[in-house]
Amino acid sequence: MSHKGETMSWEDNVRRVTPYTPGEQPKDTQKVIKLNTNEMPYPPSPKVAEALKHYDADSLRLYPAADVGPLRDALADHYGRRSDEVFVGVGSDDVLATAFLTFFYSDKPVIFPDITYSFYDVWADVYRLPYETKPLDKDFHMVKSDYMCENGGIVIANPNAPTGVSEMEDVNFIEDIVAANPNSVVIVDEAYVDFGGVSALPLIDKYDNILIVRTFSKSRAFAGMRIGYAIGNAKLIKYLNDVKYSVNSYTMNRTAIDLGIAALSDDEYFSETVGKIIKTRQWTADELKKRGFEVTDSKTNFVFASPKCTSAKEMFRQLREKNIYIRWWDKDRIRDWLRISIGTDEEMKILIDAIDQIQKG
Ligand code: PMP
Repeated sequence: MSHKGETMSWEDNVRRVTPYTPGEQPKDTQKVIKLNTNEMPYPPSPKVAEALKHYDADSLRLYPAADVGPLRDALADHYGRRSDEVFVGVGSDDVLATAFLTFFYSDKPVIFPDITYSFYDVWADVYRLPYETKPLDKDFHMVKSDYMCENGGIVIANPNAPTGVSEMEDVNFIEDIVAANPNSVVIVDEAYVDFGGVSALPLIDKYDNILIVRTFSKSRAFAGMRIGYAIGNAKLIKYLNDVKYSVNSYTMNRTAIDLGIAALSDDEYFSETVGKIIKTRQWTADELKKRGFEVTDSKTNFVFASPKCTSAKEMFRQLREKNIYIRWWDKDRIRDWLRISIGTDEEMKILIDAIDQIQKG
């Protein structure tokens, strides 16, 4: 009902939010060296191409397994867990969004670092959850004591993005936080853990309040297929499924389920390609340091680097002009930093040459 002088509109009832901004996907990928969204420069396992070649298109008339059965079982098998300890979603973004909706339902704030994956505050906003960020220290490490306070849930990306830093010097870092917060769920986002981080997965045998979230997008070169998963205590997984089945039961399409199994089955190819990225990351970090950049000790498939002579913004702009896409955020504390995904050796050589040209200026 509208009163005199007041104009009501359907827009008053809209759930408004400032959305997450994903890295740019250029139309002409041939022309661009794309180091802006932490994709793998190598294709997925040849077993995926093989499975696709023999794909039974007729089967697509049927709904997929709502519980993602065969892929969930394959993941359980891979990690030596039970199937009821595994949840699969449309990329880890879907898994994380469902986990926020399921486990964070409190008047107390959800807590996470001030510099971390920039989707966390967007999910908190869209679900109208109170949240508080805790500053990383000057070396971009989390301060453990900050996470020992009253809260409605905790999210930790380990290794972190966009810093690349892993909390592994203190082996008990995650465990101490999980143990100190028995009344909260601690989500550990391990999107990048395969590139040299240390997984908190063993903790799920000891604590019922930790959920590990992983993805096929990075280390399995499968960003386009959208597969993410969570591993945790069966009770956590049941609650996740209850929410999922209350929103959309058939999230994973049949092709993703079948090809995900193929991607997961090739350990040899996985180790080979991840190993190549780690080697190229080391080379890139060394070359950047030789050129005066400050570089964090990344355990991911990207480096986080701060140039000395040219500003990060200007470096980002000039690289873009040369069709080399990287990531820069106009954000306090990281305005002087660039996030550069690790590509092939050839791509990284072109990047370093371009940086030399820019610095000669
Ligand atoms: N977590 C972190 C820390 C990430 O950087 C990303 C990639 N943007 C994701 C989760 C989501 O990845 P995906 O949805 O492709 O699994």
